[in-house]
Amino acid sequence: MNAPTRTAEAAALAAYADEAWDERIVPALTDYIAVPAKSPMFDAAWAELGLIDRVVRDAAAWVEGRRVAGLKLEVLRLPGRTPLIFFDIPATRAGSGDTVLLYGHLDKQPEFNGWRADLGPWTPKYEGGLLYGRGGADDGYAVYAAITAIEALDRQGIARPRCVGLIETSEESGSPDLPAYIDVLRPRLGQVGLVVCLDSGAGNYDQLWLTTSLRGMVSGVLKVEILTEGVHSGDASGLVPSSFRILRLVLDRLEDSKSGELLPESFHCAIPAARIVQAQATAAILGDEVWKRFPWACGADGGPALPTTTDPVQALLNRTWRPTLSVTGVDGFPELSNAGNVLRPYTAFKLSLRLPPLVDGNEASLRLKTLLEDNAPYNARVTFHPDGRAGALGASGWDAPELAPWLHGALDAASNAHFGAPVGFIGQGGTIPLMSMLAKGFPKAQMMVCGVLGPKSNAHGPNEFLHVPYGKRLTAAVAQVIAACP
Ligand SMILES: [Zn+2]
Repeated sequence: MNAPTRTAEAAALAAYADEAWDERIVPALTDYIAVPAKSPMFDAAWAELGLIDRVVRDAAAWVEGRRVAGLKLEVLRLPGRTPLIFFDIPATRAGSGDTVLLYGHLDKQPEFNGWRADLGPWTPKYEGGLLYGRGGADDGYAVYAAITAIEALDRQGIARPRCVGLIETSEESGSPDLPAYIDVLRPRLGQVGLVVCLDSGAGNYDQLWLTTSLRGMVSGVLKVEILTEGVHSGDASGLVPSSFRILRLVLDRLEDSKSGELLPESFHCAIPAARIVQAQATAAILGDEVWKRFPWACGADGGPALPTTTDPVQALLNRTWRPTLSVTGVDGFPELSNAGNVLRPYTAFKLSLRLPPLVDGNEASLRLKTLLEDNAPYNARVTFHPDGRAGALGASGWDAPELAPWLHGALDAASNAHFGAPVGFIGQGGTIPLMSMLAKGFPKAQMMVCGVLGPKSNAHGPNEFLHVPYGKRLTAAVAQVIAACP
């Protein structure tokens, strides 16, 4: 990394962010990681367990303890929904009409397996600048970094617009509770000029990365039932069709299993020319790291296993602008050690279908259900139960609005000041349901979607870590961009 070129003002922001992370944010996140505040989809008893409540209370107390001038914080609780933190901080700049909306979430993904022996999802460990454990990077740090960015400006006397914060707790379940809160809060949000979403990724740890698109998602359970109970496989196989084979036949309608390409045209969208140009520029920065950063198994010939493509441009587009199917869970199978010679009565897969940014998630979910359920082979009972609520069965992706010159300039200046390199632009393959909601609700708002999820940070998987030096620089960069907001 080059030496950052910074003004005295930027240096003061950086110093403030450094100290805040060391003194207050890392300790707060260490406590946060230890709490298994799993998102409702992964913990039906979340309300009784009170763990989501606990992380919300802890974060709210931390924020209120910072005594930011004029800050008002409320924990909102709509009946039957996860809570949400809303904070509102008045402008320190006269005549500034627009609002900056900062977003993050405190609910977490489940444990997953494969953690290094000395690490675990709920046992935080701070080692070599990396804070390991579930949820620190996705997305516990967001509320702390957001408040620290505002504090940094206020302490240096740098004027800024009004800032509000939405910190929700159903994101990892597809944000089913968020639209209801946005409806309630809408009159209080004001005219949103800039959204700062701190739940995204970074191409590397050497510069500020702006997310320019997100994929959407449809998930749900596909189940194929052929018998009412398991039977001797020697007795029945060959006559009773295998529920696994029927499931494969059904999935063949969706995916070419040779290439991984999704077959229905309606799950694809045209890739905007500007995004292809951006992917080419990003590929030039990241090169083979685009695909080498994954933990490839030792392959058939002793070398590493291989990706779908080694062309960095296509690799970037495959994971951001093309639909892909993943199978994330199974049911109907015994553990291997308990697998007798039984023809199993049913097979169920949890499907996770990532959609390109411009495909409507709800409509895709309905089309997927029809595609999988109609004309069941062998008249088997084939059902697809999508996650979500009626009207919001899938999450739509998002394509950033055209970048305003002021924001482009501010991002570049902030990246140069705090990283010593210009801002990078990258599409992300994950989904943040909020972004398509906000894009519809605030069509004129500019969007600064960033995050700490860089190479190997492994959100959702084992050994998730928060890259603290990146978090510090990102916090200072966010402060600088907020101050530049017209
Ligand atoms: Zn997240």
